[in-house]
Amino acid sequence: MIWPAVDAIKQQISLLDYLQTQNWKPARRISRGRLMGLCPLHLDHKPSFLVDPLQNLFYCYGCSRGGDLIRFVELYHDVSFGEAMALLRRSARCGSLLSDVARFYQVQLDRHPEAVAYLQQRGIQQPQVIEEFAIGYAPGGCLRHWMISLGYSLNELQQAGLVNAAGLDSFTHRVVFPLETNLYGRTVGNAAAHRFLPGDKGGLPRWQRVKHCSEVILVEGLFDLAVLWQAGFHNATCAMGSHLNARQLRQLCDGALRTVYLAFDADANGSGQLAAHRLSRRLLQQGVTALRVQLPDGHDPNSFFVGGGDGQQFQQLLERALP
Ligand SMILES: [Zn+2]
Repeated sequence: MIWPAVDAIKQQISLLDYLQTQNWKPARRISRGRLMGLCPLHLDHKPSFLVDPLQNLFYCYGCSRGGDLIRFVELYHDVSFGEAMALLRRSARCGSLLSDVARFYQVQLDRHPEAVAYLQQRGIQQPQVIEEFAIGYAPGGCLRHWMISLGYSLNELQQAGLVNAAGLDSFTHRVVFPLETNLYGRTVGNAAAHRFLPGDKGGLPRWQRVKHCSEVILVEGLFDLAVLWQAGFHNATCAMGSHLNARQLRQLCDGALRTVYLAFDADANGSGQLAAHRLSRRLLQQGVTALRVQLPDGHDPNSFFVGGGDGQQFQQLLERALP
């Protein structure tokens, strides 16, 4: 009985479209419209991943894996068939909505000096970082009209949590980071600091680009992640809090040999360090080497760099990390 559902999903999302949303780029075109590129499923140095857009199938000559869209999602996200279907259904339904929202917020960023000033204050200066993380700004009071002009209904916007029951934009005066199936908004004003849309926060950001690294840095917040990336640490990802959800934990414990550096907040009440301690034990039980990075008191990776710390100094902290 699941086959009609599978066909419906495959009609809504083509394999090639999906690959492109995951930043896959073909390196060359071969006969009958087929494409070759680097394999997203293993560490690939010469293009061995073949995509046939007409058949909607892939095959990798490097890792010998192949199949259809659902199979790709299973392998790529390390999820079961049922979870792959759920992920695809969610992205079919809200994928275009969220990407249209994110694009709108990105345009707003340059128009609002208070947002740019806030990013500067959080140590984010390079335009490449803003582009890499697709950082935007939700000024409030204008998303609803724009989205309705694009053909979305008020009901859809309310169901996604973008517009509240009173018909007002939910995200107001917030710097926004788009996530896989959600949005994170950090207030630049006095409202509650952190906000997500209703629903799951999703897996680890940038995981597909990070998972092949033998050393991975895990931080709590997206601003920590952005400054680390800016300082050249492209092997970092973020829990969006100090607790991992089941999917994030599964991603870190996927059986690959890697060391995870937990660079959690060194806050005064010790909660970040306690969470790091618990997590390192949990990872160890799963056979993952975990080391805890000791930041100076009162600092998180973001404030470490904002306060004048540089990449070399952070590297030293990694080298001195404790089991
Ligand atoms: Zn492969």
